[in-house]
Amino acid sequence: MTKPVRRLVLSSNNAKKLEELRQLLAPLGADVVSQGELGIGEADEPHSTFLENALAKARHASAASGLPALADDSGLCVDALDGAPGVRSARFASDAGEGEGDGANNALLLRRMDGHAERQARFVCALVAVRSVHDPEPLVAMGRWELQVLLAPQGIGGFGYDPIVRPAQADHSVADCSAEEKHRHSHRGQAMRELLGQLSAQWGWR
Ligand code: IMP
Repeated sequence: MTKPVRRLVLSSNNAKKLEELRQLLAPLGADVVSQGELGIGEADEPHSTFLENALAKARHASAASGLPALADDSGLCVDALDGAPGVRSARFASDAGEGEGDGANNALLLRRMDGHAERQARFVCALVAVRSVHDPEPLVAMGRWELQVLLAPQGIGGFGYDPIVRPAQADHSVADCSAEEKHRHSHRGQAMRELLGQLSAQWGWR
């Protein structure tokens, strides 16, 4: 029997994040399209929790496309900084007037961590899937990955804060993890495995 065509819009414009999401979604065999490919702009992310921002992004992409949508809202929470940069992870440096992008974010975080012996942190990921903008039953999955903030950047792979954190049990940075190793342990990998189970159980997408 042939599988029905399932289209899913990804509500992200971050190329590296989209690549990870596509790899993690591969078992679904769905036609996955990014909102950028459909000419849909970025959603506002005004909320103080990953979950609320992910829901806002999923609704935004579903409203604009008329299709089911999946959103990821994620970031780095550092204990010594009371959970910052948290939901502001992508805009940590620009919020402080310290430049834009991953390099500026990493430099500012390392500076804020100067003199802190306590370097515990975690990546957090909220995934939300909606069938339509008014879906009363969004699917929700969370993942967390325990990390240590390094003293200086290491490695050239990955994206975002990957070069300045290492998994709690590893001797290398996340930027030096293979894609397979990152997917197995990461916040996004954990959340996606949980979401794939819900897509199967609740939407019959299997
Ligand atoms: P969002 O696109 O608004 O959810 O912003 C997510 C931000 O969190 C990214 O721009 C990165 O700075 C950070 N982030 C989320 N996931 C990861 C990851 O897997 N590695 C490194 N940084 C991440």
